[in-house]
Amino acid sequence: MTVFTQQNGQLFCEQVALADVQQQYGSPTYVYSRKAITEAFEAYKAGLGNHPGLICYAVKANSNIAVLQVLAELGAGFDIVSQGELERVLAAGGDASKVVFSGVAKRPQEMRRALEVGIHCFNVESRAELEVLAAVAAEEGKVAPVSLRVNPDVDAKTHPYISTGLKENKFGVDIDEAIEHYKWAAAQASLKVVGVDCHIGSQLTEAQPFFDAQARVLNLVDTLAENGIELEHVDMGGGIGVRYENDDTPPNITESVQQMIANLGERKLGLLLEPGRSIVANAGALLTEVIYLKSTEAHNFAIVDAAMNDMIRPALYQAWMEILPVQAAKVAAKEYDVVGPVCETGDFLGKKRTLAIEQGSVLAMLSAGAYGFVMASNYNTRGRAAEVMVDGAQVHLIRERETVESLFAGEHRLG
Ligand SMILES: *Cc1c(COP(=O)(O)O)cnc(C)c1O
Repeated sequence: MTVFTQQNGQLFCEQVALADVQQQYGSPTYVYSRKAITEAFEAYKAGLGNHPGLICYAVKANSNIAVLQVLAELGAGFDIVSQGELERVLAAGGDASKVVFSGVAKRPQEMRRALEVGIHCFNVESRAELEVLAAVAAEEGKVAPVSLRVNPDVDAKTHPYISTGLKENKFGVDIDEAIEHYKWAAAQASLKVVGVDCHIGSQLTEAQPFFDAQARVLNLVDTLAENGIELEHVDMGGGIGVRYENDDTPPNITESVQQMIANLGERKLGLLLEPGRSIVANAGALLTEVIYLKSTEAHNFAIVDAAMNDMIRPALYQAWMEILPVQAAKVAAKEYDVVGPVCETGDFLGKKRTLAIEQGSVLAMLSAGAYGFVMASNYNTRGRAAEVMVDGAQVHLIRERETVESLFAGEHRLG
């Protein structure tokens, strides 16, 4: 159920009119719904039921402390890819013992911090990393819980930039070579082998590739068991897609999780998942104001105050995202390319959108809660957007708009 609804010609988030949010906080501003985040997380929890396991929210999708706090209070675990994300989780009140640490380039100092706070598991992506982790844990007098990220070589059938489970990708170890790495790990006093993980891609619109990947991973689990290496959990990563366009039909979350549990059969294995996008994408919108309308022979342009530095998905992945006026203007609708102020032809939010708008109209870009603010940059010396969270009829400022002074505060003139 979407929390972004039309009421008397006005677009609302929960019980708050988005026009009012823009009036109070300006634009561009990201708006997130606490209810939508909660419902998406609860859909995963319902799928897991009483089966042992963890839903580890992938922090990189949206790492605002308030978003992490909402999820921590719901009992979420977290999937992190840097020490920075670990510190955010701890600052938000997250439980270190429910954290899994993914990523291809963990440095010794990051491993040390994760060992110190006692994370659930390191998802190791190469033999070199496994050896460094064994050495760091030994130095610290600790035992590091490890899972190997295997590459099951399945096609996630998604955009090539967010497809990660093919042999040609940089992620994970080859599933056929995993056994020798597990044997090595099992022989190290400073490592404890606890699981196996994979993550085949993002924005998957079918569930079948997950089940294909799981079948291959379970084959490995069985072979390991025959070799005396018993795992405690299987982590199927993230990647369940969301609806960006009306005819997108992403897999049902609860049913997909239930199927993954059924696929475990008689094996005594916990199930971990690392969803990011499917928790936060549809919980967020990006508000932007029309600065100018401009027509050329070929196009009508709506030039808005949000740009590719605020939301890069259209430029980077050719992503299509819905753009709606928060209030219809009493003018004839026209077809517009919605573009930002940045000096790049790739700087667009949407093309060929039929909109009834005028100068000063406010637009909402929907499904913007994932891979939006977190990928923002200061290109063109633009401060990053404000972020607010709606909770019922209340609006909380959860990140202040960046000031221009703060953007060059760490820079130095030649002495
Ligand atoms: C990005 C990522 C996720 C989250 O993916 P979504 O598509 O946002 O669900 C989970 N696990 C790993 C290892 C990732 O890199």
